[in-house]
Amino acid sequence: LLAAARARAEAASGLNALISLNDHADEQAVAVQSRLAAGESLPLAGLPMVIKDNLNLNGTRTTCGSRMLEHYVSPYTATAVQRLLDAGAVIVGKANMDEFAMGSSGESSAFGPTLNPWDTSRVTGGTSSGSAAVVAAGLVPVSLGSDTGGSVRQPAALCGVYGLKPTYGRVSRYGLVAHASSLDQIGPVARSAADLALLMNVIAGHDGRDATSLDAPPAFAAGTPEDLRGLRVGVITESLGGNTAGVSAVLNATLDALRGAGASVAEVSLPALKHAIATYYLISMPEASSNLARYDGMVYGSREPGGDVLGSMTRTRERGFGREVQRRIMIGTYALSSGYYDAYYSKATRVRRLIANEFSAAFADFNVLVTPTSPFPAFRLGEKMNDPLTMYAADVDTVAVNLAGLPALSVPAGFEEVDGKRLPVGVQFIAPALQDELLVRIAGGLE
Ligand code: GLN
Repeated sequence: LLAAARARAEAASGLNALISLNDHADEQAVAVQSRLAAGESLPLAGLPMVIKDNLNLNGTRTTCGSRMLEHYVSPYTATAVQRLLDAGAVIVGKANMDEFAMGSSGESSAFGPTLNPWDTSRVTGGTSSGSAAVVAAGLVPVSLGSDTGGSVRQPAALCGVYGLKPTYGRVSRYGLVAHASSLDQIGPVARSAADLALLMNVIAGHDGRDATSLDAPPAFAAGTPEDLRGLRVGVITESLGGNTAGVSAVLNATLDALRGAGASVAEVSLPALKHAIATYYLISMPEASSNLARYDGMVYGSREPGGDVLGSMTRTRERGFGREVQRRIMIGTYALSSGYYDAYYSKATRVRRLIANEFSAAFADFNVLVTPTSPFPAFRLGEKMNDPLTMYAADVDTVAVNLAGLPALSVPAGFEEVDGKRLPVGVQFIAPALQDELLVRIAGGLE
């Protein structure tokens, strides 16, 4: 299996989906063989996997898609990754990603953009660009990404695979390099509901090394059409405008399928969602600016020589961070600074509460909420790179979920034909906190 995954990775190297291959993969495979020989039963025995390059794996490079960490070798392993290894998985390599998980296209990586396997002139979406591309291109059956504002769901949608953002606290963040700590979650990318369930049952669950980890043992299983009968589905009104014709058509077809299986479908309005993007960026950028303060060239990663300590730190941060990361550090620091804190950061935290309350109110009437995952299918490489606001707007359907800490799943639901090419379209299901299992049952029911 490992050899097959490596051969596929070699054949698909043009996608630029991997930043590094894991030199220890053979040792891991041999260890699995001896554990099997000793009679152990391993749920992921020998399964080749790829993990996003912001997840630490002892003895391998963890670059976060940044020059800053180009040569950084992890001295420890993330809890979610350790659980994969304990279950018998073999880590083939580390996936390309937007620098420090900032972006919506996969293009902000210092190692170059990831190309969409469906049309290599188009983006994969971001920031778990490589994690989605390797599953879509068949290098490995499953991968791990991370989702702060849509980074598992959006690339999954644009690449035609499943992507789950679990309830905040469901999967340990220990060993995931922090972007915005109150929003970050690790999540799986897969080609079927059954594979999502398999992975979640391994990686979810309490971890004493993450103070926000919840004690909610996972009980995932792919559902059947029976699970859709009687389901009350709310379509979020605010997500219905501004979509391409193909995205609207795929959403409507999915709603028809749900009705056909015995679900009831109605619209529900969450008016505060019109502030979701502004709120998300005013919370994520300040958190990121704080988290990234640690990259000063003194302890982690690269260090530019300089006359004195301050000069060295300044040059290290000027050269190590790309444009988007620098932009966010500046905006985030500004929004936290005295005099602006009340107007920006503090106000954003109050709107965040409003958004969470509107979700709670909607869940009084509905079991699950639905939106497109993205208003459009994969866009062309370079199309949004020089216009950060247009890039941020790509997250319109995904960011509110992270602000409210909810679980959400992007399901590959159809295609839109653009310039003679079929481009995948995803539909997003959002569940109440801790009902991640329901999402995977619905996905199974729709397969
Ligand atoms: N596109 C969003 C951002 O750039 C989401 C990132 C993420 O989920 N890591 O912040």
